[in-house]
Amino acid sequence: LSIALNNMIDRLREAFDQNRRFLADASHELRTPLAALRGEMESVVEQARALPEWRDRVGSALEEVDRLAKIVETLFAISRLDAGEAQQVWTQFDLARLASSTAEQMSLLAEDKGVKVSCQVPAEVKVEGDRARIKQVVVNLLDNAIKYTPRGGAVSLHVQARGGKAMMEVVDTGIGIPSGALPHVFERFFRVDKARSREAGGAGLGLAIVKSICAAHGGKVEVESVEGKGSQFRVELPLAS
Ligand code: ADP
Repeated sequence: LSIALNNMIDRLREAFDQNRRFLADASHELRTPLAALRGEMESVVEQARALPEWRDRVGSALEEVDRLAKIVETLFAISRLDAGEAQQVWTQFDLARLASSTAEQMSLLAEDKGVKVSCQVPAEVKVEGDRARIKQVVVNLLDNAIKYTPRGGAVSLHVQARGGKAMMEVVDTGIGIPSGALPHVFERFFRVDKARSREAGGAGLGLAIVKSICAAHGGKVEVESVEGKGSQFRVELPLAS
């Protein structure tokens, strides 16, 4: 039995490594042709100045290329984070200050949507890591909370040190997530309602990269949600020593 189990674990590990290598190779290989395509199309737009119909058509194809390029970049970043290869700029910083300044920047976007953003950060909470990546975690979680909360709702952000950990919570009074979908929201390309979230610009990679960034920092992210009532995303990171 133990030999069979060991063989199975080896096969699983191999499949997992293959899967990871495939993602890394595919995203890496796709970057160059996409950049070339974008360059070509930009020059067509330039030359087609006199032909408005052509300019519009190539312009909208260019938007799709940009969208594809963003997806490829995110996949590439996820594969590098998961392989522990991302070149991170490791520093010590105050998560509370990062969270409150990000919330302030994003509250303008929320105001346009009629959603109120508040932020409670009672004291300094020092963590260690790549500040730009952790900012991306805050941005992605706030962006979702604002995106999936209807007009008149509220989003709140809390940061505190608790039990030797840095805890950040993003709570919204939005549409919530159906319980059947909850275990999948951190998977790549998962969207509860494909049509609606594509309209809002999402490819279903925002939470996948949040999970990879948290894991690369020795932390984790969890979600609780009640459909129709709202969601709560909780990020836990080690405090700086
Ligand atoms: P997307 O770019 O589509 O928003 P994400 O990976 O960020 O992709 O999120 C995955 C899915 O989880 C979303 O499509 C949405 O259905 C759901 N989701 C994420 N955050 C929230 C939230 N705060 N409230 C309700 N649904 C959410």
